[in-house]
Amino acid sequence: MKIEDIKKSGLNIDGDIFFDQSIKNLNWFNIGGKTKIFFRPNSLKGLIEYLKLYGSRGKIFILGNGSNVLFDDDTYQGTVIKLGKSFSNITLLDNETIIAGTAVSQKKVSEFAKDNGISGLEFMSCIPGSIGGGIRMNSGCFKKEFKDILISIQLVDFKGLVRSIPANKINFRYRSIELPADLIFLSATFKGKEKNSEEINNYMNELNTNKNMAQPTRIKTSGSTFKNPINQTDKKVWELIRSSVPNETSYGDAVISEKHANFFVNKKNAKSEDMKSLINFVKKKVKDHTGVKLELEIVVVE
Ligand SMILES: Cc1cc2nc3c(=O)[nH]c(=O)nc-3n(C[C@H](O)[C@H](O)[C@H](O)COP(=O)(O)OP(=O)(O)OC[C@H]3O[C@@H](n4cnc5c(N)ncnc54)[C@H](O)[C@@H]3O)c2cc1C
Repeated sequence: MKIEDIKKSGLNIDGDIFFDQSIKNLNWFNIGGKTKIFFRPNSLKGLIEYLKLYGSRGKIFILGNGSNVLFDDDTYQGTVIKLGKSFSNITLLDNETIIAGTAVSQKKVSEFAKDNGISGLEFMSCIPGSIGGGIRMNSGCFKKEFKDILISIQLVDFKGLVRSIPANKINFRYRSIELPADLIFLSATFKGKEKNSEEINNYMNELNTNKNMAQPTRIKTSGSTFKNPINQTDKKVWELIRSSVPNETSYGDAVISEKHANFFVNKKNAKSEDMKSLINFVKKKVKDHTGVKLELEIVVVE
């Protein structure tokens, strides 16, 4: 993909294009160098225009709230796309059904469901990501995940073709879904159950209290670093790490949270390399000590 071409034609695309943009402040780890191109479409039309021109000519990474990603220290040699306002609508379809744009936060959608007396989306209030990130990761907590409430996804592929996929045609896995990587989710339809808003509110408060007791808050982290190895052991990943690695292990400013051993933290100015060294060290120690092969939950962008 030629930057010169994008500089010229970009002027006619409905969206903002930035070159050599820092991505450090766009993710929860607060880690990462720059991206060659950063594109924020103002409309679906603008997104499709960009994809039709450049979607097949270079790498693309679609960024949500950045709460599950680890960027590289070196410049990303492609386009990072971040959906904004025009992908943030939430609409009530009927007494139990909601359509939400993928740029909106999961927290906002769970609040909207509560205000409209729809139960089933309470778990989203504990997850700091966007709807788009939640779909890609099949995010969840307290025994509920996206697959339980998702009805359909509207999306566009990197060639600019828009379509809709019913959820019952998708294979959901633990913290992932079986859909190709070259898809950008635009909006999603969710179905819950009618319930009294006050009861929903009480349940949401209970979940958030439990979550805050178990996991650290207000720190630079991407949440759970590794997936729970459900097919290898009954033990939770934090237990495996606790028993295999000294908690004070650190690489530069990349450290293990004191409160939750599967949350890795950027104490101040950790580099991506520091975080990757910590990840590899923990992975090796857990394998040596317990025989369990850990798999990353966070998405490493290179
Ligand atoms: C403090 C903390 C607590 C957390 N607790 C939980 C938890 O309880 N349960 C849980 O499951 N996760 C948890 N997470 C992880 C994270 O919040 C979730 O995975 C979240 O759903 C990711 O959403 P995001 O918008 O931040 O995605 P990002 O981190 O921006 O991206 C994650 C992935 O989604 C893809 N993506 C994002 N938007 C789109 C889109 N529109 N179309 C296509 N692909 C897209 C990205 O390309 C990437 O592959 C936690 C993270 C933190 C920091």
